[in-house]
Amino acid sequence: MTPRLPDVTVIGAGLGGLSAAIHLRLAGHRVRVFEANAAIGGRANVLRVGGQRFDTGPSLLNYPWIFEDLFAAAGRHLGDFLRLRRIEPTIVFHWPDGRRLTLASEKERLAAELENFEASASHKLDEYLADAKEKFRIAFEKLIPRNESRPLTYFAVLTCGELLRTALWRSMYAEIGRFFRSRHIREALGSYAMYLGGSPFSLPGLFSMLPYGELAYGLWYPEGGIYALVEAIGRLARSCGVEIHVGRTVSRILHREARVTAVELADGERIAADVVVCNADLPTVYPQLLGEPPPRLAMSPAVLTYYWVLRQPPAGLSHHTIFLPGNYRPAFRHLLKGQGIPTQLAFYVAAPDASQPGPAPASPSRVFVLVPVPVLSRLTGVGWPEAVAEVRDRVLERLAAAGIVLRAGDILAERVWTPPEWAQRFRLYDGSAFGAAHTLGQVGPFRPPNYSRRFRGLYFVGASTQPGTGLPMVVLSGKLTAARIAAHVRSALR
Ligand SMILES: Cc1cc2nc3c(=O)[nH]c(=O)nc-3n(C[C@H](O)[C@H](O)[C@H](O)COP(=O)(O)OP(=O)(O)OC[C@H]3O[C@@H](n4cnc5c(N)ncnc54)[C@H](O)[C@@H]3O)c2cc1C
Repeated sequence: MTPRLPDVTVIGAGLGGLSAAIHLRLAGHRVRVFEANAAIGGRANVLRVGGQRFDTGPSLLNYPWIFEDLFAAAGRHLGDFLRLRRIEPTIVFHWPDGRRLTLASEKERLAAELENFEASASHKLDEYLADAKEKFRIAFEKLIPRNESRPLTYFAVLTCGELLRTALWRSMYAEIGRFFRSRHIREALGSYAMYLGGSPFSLPGLFSMLPYGELAYGLWYPEGGIYALVEAIGRLARSCGVEIHVGRTVSRILHREARVTAVELADGERIAADVVVCNADLPTVYPQLLGEPPPRLAMSPAVLTYYWVLRQPPAGLSHHTIFLPGNYRPAFRHLLKGQGIPTQLAFYVAAPDASQPGPAPASPSRVFVLVPVPVLSRLTGVGWPEAVAEVRDRVLERLAAAGIVLRAGDILAERVWTPPEWAQRFRLYDGSAFGAAHTLGQVGPFRPPNYSRRFRGLYFVGASTQPGTGLPMVVLSGKLTAARIAAHVRSALR
């Protein structure tokens, strides 16, 4: 007789938790997901403002094959659930000196744009793309898809040439600087570090491949917004037999002799579980659910986000725009090490209606503004009503300086989520929006592993464990955690 597989309880229905749940259900486990919020999706959530539907957090979608693979694992096609649209050109960058750079996947167009900033940039672009392509191959074929926490074994699969290519000892900014001399090109490509909530000066050189991933494989947008992708994954999970319970907070993980036995919900109900998968942000699990001190981790910054309904589409704003400060390096240093709201801001603006197909852009129109700020422990003493108003003014000033003028009365409705609200809604450690930082000491085998070394049966999934943050990575994280559990179950049954 085949032995019964252990029941699995997943704490949290972010995309990492849902991905793990789907893979574990497909492997034959009974899987129950408990989500504290009323809606699934975690940070990738949905918000209604002035009758308009907004995505709360993620707005840039990369690496669509990772989502396609999730559906394929269940014998389904992502395309039957959702249509993805390619966004081209991808991102527009603005500087306070009035310069503007537009990235595009079409190589001739991109080369011509870079030539405006640096002579013979098109030749350097070829060299950069060739190098980043190889880095991308190494990362996606050899490093990211493996469950390996021992550094020597992790890197042993690389040839000497491949190891040199990872440029782990150099910063992402310095690595980009090997190809381009223009400050503007370096800063634009370096600001992809913000995708991981990081700084190009603290991320290792391997991450210079991030712009390549987008230029080569596209930047995508699901019809209906990012939350349409979350809904599709939720439907997939339910159709596989995953049991999802929303509005149910787990308050404790119970254990006996270093083995998990159950979870306790906020209403006191206990659910016996041999395997518990925590999608709750890893560093919060220890203090909040196990009554233990959190692991020492450097965290990525927090965010202040604005959701605006505008009377009409703002002229001159593309779907994705990044506004960089004049003092690029000190601004990133402040984000990671400074106290209080930075005086010069790097910020991101999404205007999803700008890329809507059709004759005329939608009206009223949605605009989302994301301003990275230091983590909560570095924001003590900030008065939020004043800070929200001040940052709004500074954002509007920068927009106006770039020719995008919004007058009083153009904003028909507004919602703002401050860092304390982000922290409280999704239980984010120190308000960190992207989870554990991707510094050299916290990537690959050095990132917190997806299983507990202390408690048998306790696993992790999501942004603060391996491989890292971002929607594609947390979906991969779910697959890796499920594979880890399968390996442990197999060895226990042997
Ligand atoms: C503002 C912002 C913008 C971003 N932009 C992008 C982007 O453009 N592209 C991109 O790819 N990524 C982006 N990211 C990163 C991406 O959103 C995250 O990496 C990813 O969504 C994290 O998923 P997760 O599954 O790890 O965790 P989460 O999404 O945080 O989900 C964890 C879930 O666990 C629940 N939970 C926690 N504790 C408990 C408990 N005790 N009981 C029950 N439930 C619990 C939480 O409520 C939450 O729903 C952005 C993030 C933010 C904040």
